[in-house]
Amino acid sequence: MSGTIFLHFIDNAFVASSPEQYFDKRSPVDGSLMGSIAEGGAAEVDAAVQAARRALEGPWGRMSLAKRTDMLYAVAKEIDRRFEDFLDAEVADTGKPRSIASHVDIPRGAANFRVFADAVKNVPTEFFEMVTPEGRKAFNYSVRSPKGVIAVICPWNLPLLLMTWKVAPALACGNTVVVKPSEETPGTATLLGEVMRTVGVPSGVYNVVHGLGANSAGEHLTRHPGVDAITFTGESATGSAIMKTAADGVRPVSLELGGKNPGIVFADCDFEAAVAGIARASFLNTGQVCLGTERVYVERPIFENFVAALKEKAEAMRPGHPSDKGTGIGPLISLAHREKVLRYYKRAVEDGATVVSGGGIPQMPDSLAGGAWIQPTIWTGLAEESAVVREEIFGPCCHIRPFDDEEEVIRLANHTPYGLAATIWTRDVGRSFRLGTSITAGIIWINSWFLRDLRTPFGGSKQSGIGREGGVHSLEFYTELRNVCVAT
Ligand code: NAD
Repeated sequence: MSGTIFLHFIDNAFVASSPEQYFDKRSPVDGSLMGSIAEGGAAEVDAAVQAARRALEGPWGRMSLAKRTDMLYAVAKEIDRRFEDFLDAEVADTGKPRSIASHVDIPRGAANFRVFADAVKNVPTEFFEMVTPEGRKAFNYSVRSPKGVIAVICPWNLPLLLMTWKVAPALACGNTVVVKPSEETPGTATLLGEVMRTVGVPSGVYNVVHGLGANSAGEHLTRHPGVDAITFTGESATGSAIMKTAADGVRPVSLELGGKNPGIVFADCDFEAAVAGIARASFLNTGQVCLGTERVYVERPIFENFVAALKEKAEAMRPGHPSDKGTGIGPLISLAHREKVLRYYKRAVEDGATVVSGGGIPQMPDSLAGGAWIQPTIWTGLAEESAVVREEIFGPCCHIRPFDDEEEVIRLANHTPYGLAATIWTRDVGRSFRLGTSITAGIIWINSWFLRDLRTPFGGSKQSGIGREGGVHSLEFYTELRNVCVAT
């Protein structure tokens, strides 16, 4: 083994698997071996779940809300203090430009702890007065209790941001967690263990078991009978598999899944803003954003100009090393993921697309040639039934199609098994309100994208997920509401 060794974090200690077992972590930037990740099995998952149960029944379960939320504020502060360490870990794992991780991933990691500590302190309770058949008074009041031990299973595209989006509300509500980070991105979840220990979060509250998904740590965790609820972010097919597993024991699931999100551009839009907005939505994070836009519909009078302007944006994105200030686009997460994306690039050509821009692998200097580099790609001319237009690719690409009226574009936008997000560009206020309720998706942006107050509900419709998290909506999943009826 060489490079960094990523260990599990169980009961406040960094531990290897027993017997020791590791898999490789390679850099997306140049393909070099970065280090080894401990592969957790049933024994490590069991140890983590048991530690989480003990913490729940011990100091964490008995802690006052004020002290618990103070700890979460301290966690946020410690992430801020160790900002550079988190940034280094996230950039090393993902290859994303430091300029993105320093503005998006790491600040949101800290913000999640503050937002949910605030949210949990301001939850109202219900109280109803009634009269018994005998004429006595009775009072009903509701109590929110933690659900218990929560399994948190995460993807690799925004590792710290998405993990803390689950861990922070779970802990704020008094639960304990066992996290299974993506096998591609072990770094920031491991560092968060150090942070928890530094600020004095009791043993067993936050646990991390590394490993793969099916037949590995992920599946062992979702099957473990000591897990009370499962919160998952990842592909829809994985979400479906986890839901089946969760059926044993009738455990609740919260699923944030894939998308094939439409971007809709009307001729009356602010053209420059729309081009910049769709370029971000299609190419940010090398297209590895669940909320990104891989289907763009542009009103016919501005179609040609829009395609030309987006092409210019795509071709101005310079691939490069994450630390280089001029880098406009990083690599994909891995060579395996690039194979998948390239299969869609090939399929687009087979299905008769016009390749407006990109379509392959960029020329990189020798030092970076082993990385998972890919060109931002734009197509036109595909049928809506092409797999390229129907399926989530999760790469820096989009297909652009012209449309003629509102009714047509609503039909096209909704013609998908997914329902995560949409971005709509128009200056017509009435139309923006109409589309806001006509597109089936969990979040609809008008003249914006990737902008959200963290108190709002977040989640997907159709195959994009089950449940809503964010602000007090997260409390619905991470707490159990009980009614107590007291007859006097
Ligand atoms: P993935 O589904 O392959 O893996 C996600 C996690 O699940 C990983 O930790 C993996 O090890 C684990 N896993 C895989 N199979 C499992 C199983 N059978 N049992 C238990 N765990 C298992 O997803 P990914 O490739 O890491 O992430 C990309 C996907 O995530 C895309 O589809 C993207 O749209 C989606 N995503 C959705 C959101 C959202 O909020 N809706 C946010 C980010 C990413």
